[in-house]
Amino acid sequence: MTQAPQQVPNTQVAYTTNNAGIPVESDEHSLTIGSNGPVLLQDHYLIEKMAQFNRERIPERVVHAKGSGAYGTFEVTNDVSQFTKADLFQPGRRTEMLARFSTVAGETGSPDTWRDPRGFALKFYTEYGNYDLVGNNTPVFFVRDPQKFQDFIRSQKRRPDNGLRDNNMQWDFWTLSPESAHMVTWLMGDRGIPKTYRHMNGYSSHTYMWVNGGGEKFWVKYHLKTDQGIDFLTQEEADRLAGEDADCHRRDLFQAIERGDHPSWTVHVQVMPFEDAADYRFNPFDLTKVWPHADYPLIEVGRMTLDQNPEDYFIHVEQAAFEPSNLVPGIGPSPDKMLLGRLFSYPDTHRYRIGPNYAQLPPNRPRSPVNSYAKDGPMRYEAAGTGAPYAPNSYGGPAAAVQQFGDIAGWQAAGEMVREAYKLHREDDDFGQPRTMIRQVLDDAARGRLVANVSGHLKQGVTRPVVDRAVRYWRNIDKETGDRIAQGVGGA
Ligand code: NDP
Repeated sequence: MTQAPQQVPNTQVAYTTNNAGIPVESDEHSLTIGSNGPVLLQDHYLIEKMAQFNRERIPERVVHAKGSGAYGTFEVTNDVSQFTKADLFQPGRRTEMLARFSTVAGETGSPDTWRDPRGFALKFYTEYGNYDLVGNNTPVFFVRDPQKFQDFIRSQKRRPDNGLRDNNMQWDFWTLSPESAHMVTWLMGDRGIPKTYRHMNGYSSHTYMWVNGGGEKFWVKYHLKTDQGIDFLTQEEADRLAGEDADCHRRDLFQAIERGDHPSWTVHVQVMPFEDAADYRFNPFDLTKVWPHADYPLIEVGRMTLDQNPEDYFIHVEQAAFEPSNLVPGIGPSPDKMLLGRLFSYPDTHRYRIGPNYAQLPPNRPRSPVNSYAKDGPMRYEAAGTGAPYAPNSYGGPAAAVQQFGDIAGWQAAGEMVREAYKLHREDDDFGQPRTMIRQVLDDAARGRLVANVSGHLKQGVTRPVVDRAVRYWRNIDKETGDRIAQGVGGA
């Protein structure tokens, strides 16, 4: 096991104060009547300590609770201004940023090496506000409609009766939701447990819109490729590390940055002309699909490098609040239904988890002017500074620069109100892309590990009907893989 970072002893010891800065009389002894007590209520320093301790935790994130973060810089290395006017992507630009990596289903103290997707959340402090790219280490996801997200997550978390995680719930949900097949193939393969946070790629997963200076629109997907090289842990290695060093990924990231081995990722985009979306062979907004590289090759944009550890984990990582709704001029959403759901959900959870003024906290505070008419609320400490608390006003308060920023990064939409699946494009189905991955991307050894991982998972508490359904699910993806899994679980 690697050593924890050493704390340097402070030779210039300051005197302890309470939260009001008043020097305290003792670090060790409560105020009592005689040495055997009783303890006095007027020991307000003791009361402050106990009360503060009782309030030390904020609610943990419902998903992505266990994470690690670091600050760094994004620098543009290629001219993509023909596709977007976004300030941070203009030639020569360097933008300070924050990254947070995380697991999804585990709680704050859970092992870093559980098989799970990894969050890949980025916040860029641009000239025109914060741009957040809240992605994963996977280019696809388990569901394609936000209506199913909550159900999906509950199937991955703990049972209401005994508080245990349950493989049966996971496979029950997945096999009843065939759109999960691509992501499940990914998750059960080598990339389902990265060696460290430094050895994984990031993907926007969603499609976004880019708009250039002339108002031309494009659809884009982001790919952040690790410069450390992709690497993974086998199930056996991960199981061992879960016991020996449950925080190994957090430790690795912190120590790498501390010793000056700054991890970096090369940022690429796939760009689809706006008009292509209507009849592209896959629905380009479906989060369970990739755009094959042969159709839309990667275009390099820049490099992000993480070089600064947080000075206080709670302030800078636990209270970091990423939200896909933070889109800056030149970047917009797409009709991806999951993305549209997340635009509401993320800021909503931050208001609950941290409080309505979370945007004023150090990791979330924009490094560009904030001229908002928002006011008051718990824990607000920055003055609005708008003069009059309403707009329009005749006292010189800020006014929307409609000429400069009034364009909406949007698309045309019309039709009946319905509750329906996405319109299918020519080659849309749930199993084709994972089949391509198994047959054309994985080698024999990786296919073998995939089969072993799935069979091992299915043998832990999954009921026979669900195992049978899982075998049919895998045979739909790839007959041979399904047959091998059937063999692995003892026939089906
Ligand atoms: P390509 O051959 O051009 O791309 C295949 C990609 O698969 C590689 O670039 C790599 O992505 C990724 N990959 C390699 N090994 C693994 C693994 N063990 N687990 C997961 N992904 C891996 O083909 P296509 O673009 O036509 O895609 C074919 C299939 O590859 C897709 O159906 C999809 O399942 C998968 N894929 C496609 C991606 C895309 O955006 N087109 C991205 C990732 C996977 P990377 O370079 O990002 O590491």
